[in-house]
Amino acid sequence: LEERLVSADKMAMLGQLAAGIAHEINNPIGYVRSNTVVAKDIFNDYQRALEEIGNLCTRAGGEIEEQFTALEKRFSLKDSAIEIAQMFDESHEGIERIIEIVKALRSFSYPGSGKHTQISAIEAMNTVIKLTNNLHRYRNNVVFEVPKEDVFFNGNSGQIQQVLMNFLTNAIYATPQGKGITLKVERDEQNVILVIDDEGEGMSKETLSKIFTPFFTTKPPGEGTGLGMSISMTIVEQHNGKIIIASEEGKGTKVSVILPIA
Ligand code: ADP
Repeated sequence: LEERLVSADKMAMLGQLAAGIAHEINNPIGYVRSNTVVAKDIFNDYQRALEEIGNLCTRAGGEIEEQFTALEKRFSLKDSAIEIAQMFDESHEGIERIIEIVKALRSFSYPGSGKHTQISAIEAMNTVIKLTNNLHRYRNNVVFEVPKEDVFFNGNSGQIQQVLMNFLTNAIYATPQGKGITLKVERDEQNVILVIDDEGEGMSKETLSKIFTPFFTTKPPGEGTGLGMSISMTIVEQHNGKIIIASEEGKGTKVSVILPIA
């Protein structure tokens, strides 16, 4: 099963839109984040103060102690404190998640721009293996079949790195212990082909048809943004390249990034 993916202007437009949205969200989320942190600190102070007042009332004893206990009950202070603490934690998590999504969205901005240099295919592959080291080193199943001759292409090295990172990270995620991931550098007359070939879970035809849709993910909530593939597509297109994905459920996925040789 092979699906060929043609470039589309749609992605470029989407990229601009995404970058715009990310920019707009960035500011408000910044102060929401810092407000939450400060508010939590203030709440902690209030809680401590309330505890001390409670201690004072206990020491005073008699009617004062009784009244404090009554107040504590009437406003269910203890339960509220637990609830508020939970709300702060949830908000914090939510905000961190939004920030992560915004960061991913920002990668859409001007994907083809930035400094272009001549990039060594071997070096690009070695770098991405190093960058994902903490994800695969214990499984030891990523193999780079280093070609006899290096191939060079033009591009923005940071963006190319991001593309390879997205693909290798996905491959690592999909591939269980004992199954392998092979990286290869191939070439034809005009192009270098960077291959990431995994023996992982593969994709159904339906999943495969949706992977370039922004925010599409099959990962559990909190684990994926669903932006990796669409960002990669945008970047590769801006480099006049192509992505070909062949995948079979239960067998694995082969991603080929095709870029013009320098
Ligand atoms: P995310 O990784 O955050 O889910 P991506 O856009 O990178 O977002 O990927 C979208 C989906 O494509 C994944 O959730 C997964 O279902 C599928 N996918 C991508 N790469 C692979 C792979 N190597 N093997 C199996 N499924 C994959």
